[in-house]
Amino acid sequence: MNILCYHGCGQPATHTTKTSRATKGPIDQCAPSANACPAVKQRKKSKVADHTDEQREQAHKKREATNLAKYGNTVSIMSPAIQAKRRATMIERYGVEHPTLNNDIREKAASSIKQAYINDETYAVRIIESRKQKHGEEYASITSKTRETNVANGRWVDPALRTVWAQYKFQVKYLTSKLYKKHKDIINPDDLPIGICLHQVDHIYSIRHGFENKVDPAIIASIHNLRMMWHTDNKSKHIRSDQTLETLMSAIEKGCKP
Ligand SMILES: [Zn+2]
Repeated sequence: MNILCYHGCGQPATHTTKTSRATKGPIDQCAPSANACPAVKQRKKSKVADHTDEQREQAHKKREATNLAKYGNTVSIMSPAIQAKRRATMIERYGVEHPTLNNDIREKAASSIKQAYINDETYAVRIIESRKQKHGEEYASITSKTRETNVANGRWVDPALRTVWAQYKFQVKYLTSKLYKKHKDIINPDDLPIGICLHQVDHIYSIRHGFENKVDPAIIASIHNLRMMWHTDNKSKHIRSDQTLETLMSAIEKGCKP
């Protein structure tokens, strides 16, 4: 018979802990960490939801006092002993000191973050809002520091150093990818695979001509100017335009489908 998870989620137990505060002995559970068990998650959630602000504040103070007495810091992870213990657990569990150093875990985390953005259109806005609330006046200096760091370590190109052409191209491509996500069913109805050596999204009236004629990037990245193209065809097309600016403009005005 299968042993079920100790926490009552109904799933089979796949992990055994070394010890547990509740039983003073090993317990069998559905995940490496009790916090990952859906039953535990649900209990914690409803417990916290029932608390008043005052209770929350009291619990917070109590936790800080305990940590201070036990670890010499209000945050337990700041204690070297706890840090060493955590490192040992991580190495045992994931084979690396920090789970994000493990490629599989990193990919899994990245894909679930991506999914969260896809599932909820307000996610990005809410994150920015909560950061602003959390950091208050400091928010602007934090974002500019992030930018400086990313520019310094070469992850981002300093906008001031980009040529005007590169900025224009960047803007068009940025708008294009946003639009592509939104209207994938229209731009790529056959769901052709996209990639450097596969199909690509082509700008029928070319980005270069748009740049030379000072056309608004949003017009070049308009749905009426996008089509799927095999990569070698796209490469040989280079800066050629396969429709005139007039045709493009009138298609946009009419609002007809490409
Ligand atoms: Zn469980």
